Amino acid sequence: MALRDRFFPPEPVCLSCQGKIIFSTLSNICDDCLQEMSFVTRSCLRCGSQLPEAQITGFCQICRSQELKLESIRAPLIYRERAREILLELKYHKNSSMALPLGQLMADYWKFFSDDTSRDYLVIPVPLSRERLTARGFNQARLLGEVVAREAGLMTEDVLIRKRNTPPLYHLNNQQRNLVLRGAFKLPADRAGRVTGRKILLVDDIVTTGSTLNEAATILLAAGACRVSALTAAAAERV
Ligand SMILES: [Zn+2]
Ligand SMILES: [Zn+2]
Repeated sequence: MALRDRFFPPEPVCLSCQGKIIFSTLSNICDDCLQEMSFVTRSCLRCGSQLPEAQITGFCQICRSQELKLESIRAPLIYRERAREILLELKYHKNSSMALPLGQLMADYWKFFSDDTSRDYLVIPVPLSRERLTARGFNQARLLGEVVAREAGLMTEDVLIRKRNTPPLYHLNNQQRNLVLRGAFKLPADRAGRVTGRKILLVDDIVTTGSTLNEAATILLAAGACRVSALTAAAAERV
């Protein structure tokens, strides 16, 4: 740190709009940008996405025909406009400082809406395949998982392996999605004991249909996890 910065620390700047931050609710993001983000206010009871305006509660169109093994999926943000920009920033511009405000938001949402906020959850980030991890240089889900765990006072561990990437699943039907996802994740035998009897909180950046999270949950439940919930920063919009 330069001597000048020690006496006159640079004012923090919002990573999204580059405006100066005097006071803000979250780290690295100003309150103006926070207000421009759309929050999930009526969530699908299964996948956590925002329900259409006319629908107050129940399941979204996709979930009416899909069964999930997950206890719940929760996401504070709707994946559009400013929230979408910030998530793209996290993912493609290798800007890990974006994980901090998003993770803070996720942890707050979890503490507020979960029916079980006990400290015995193990946070497991949804892994990337080795090829994608090499190309991107980091796993955005892992960065978010670390912040969520720290903010919520939970442990986090990378136990799952992603054997291969899967194409976008949104336009596939349930059967096709399950087929594409089968065998996408693996829990190595020497790590299985870490999840046996545990409550798991899977963390990812975006939920689209919930099928990927559900496939990961299936592996964890088969290894003896007693309950698997999921928390993502944003939920894709339903059309
Ligand atoms: Zn801003
Ligand atoms: Zn749904």
